[in-house]
Amino acid sequence: MKIICIGRNYAEHAKELNNPLPVKPVFFMKPDSSLLIRNNPFFYPSFSNEIHYETEVVLKISRLGKNIQPKFAHRYYKTVGLGIDFTARDLQDVCKKAGHPWEIAKAFDQSAVVNRFIDIDSLPDRNAIKFELSLNGSTVQQGNTKDLIFSFDEVIAYISTFITLKTGDLIFTGTPAGVGPVKPGDHLIATLEGQVMLDFHIR
Ligand code: ZN
Repeated sequence: MKIICIGRNYAEHAKELNNPLPVKPVFFMKPDSSLLIRNNPFFYPSFSNEIHYETEVVLKISRLGKNIQPKFAHRYYKTVGLGIDFTARDLQDVCKKAGHPWEIAKAFDQSAVVNRFIDIDSLPDRNAIKFELSLNGSTVQQGNTKDLIFSFDEVIAYISTFITLKTGDLIFTGTPAGVGPVKPGDHLIATLEGQVMLDFHIR
């Protein structure tokens, strides 16, 4: 399986990192070795001094698809989860300045946190999914997928123009504003429509 992540998909987050608003989705990938599952602890890596959390709604692809039209894209996922796209912001800044790819900042081991997935039809509104992250008991990110620049369906259509989507692939759909650093000892809890989706520690 593969993990595809959308960058700059909420205007307020693009602004906080001084990035221009995209006219097409921006995406990058993480390998399957980046997965951190079952609420296992995240071990702070030695190569960075600035690991940031980015809380994102994650789509799980449920069937094979290529060149998917936006109007049919909803048929390609049935469940959603929450994920953390851990980012070595210090390394990413160096990559961006040099015009280099982002893999060392985005695709490292344990950088893609996911846990449970729930049926999207069980949610009150599939186009307005509320989610939040609390760090040591304080809410640090609050998002609503109605604020996405590119909707789930537009993202799936765009990615599948270039890359075949397969069952089990994950799409991280972008983070709202409020990203920030973690440190060993931190406790992260992420909720989607009030349901706890992630609950884990930084070690
Ligand atoms: Zn992200």
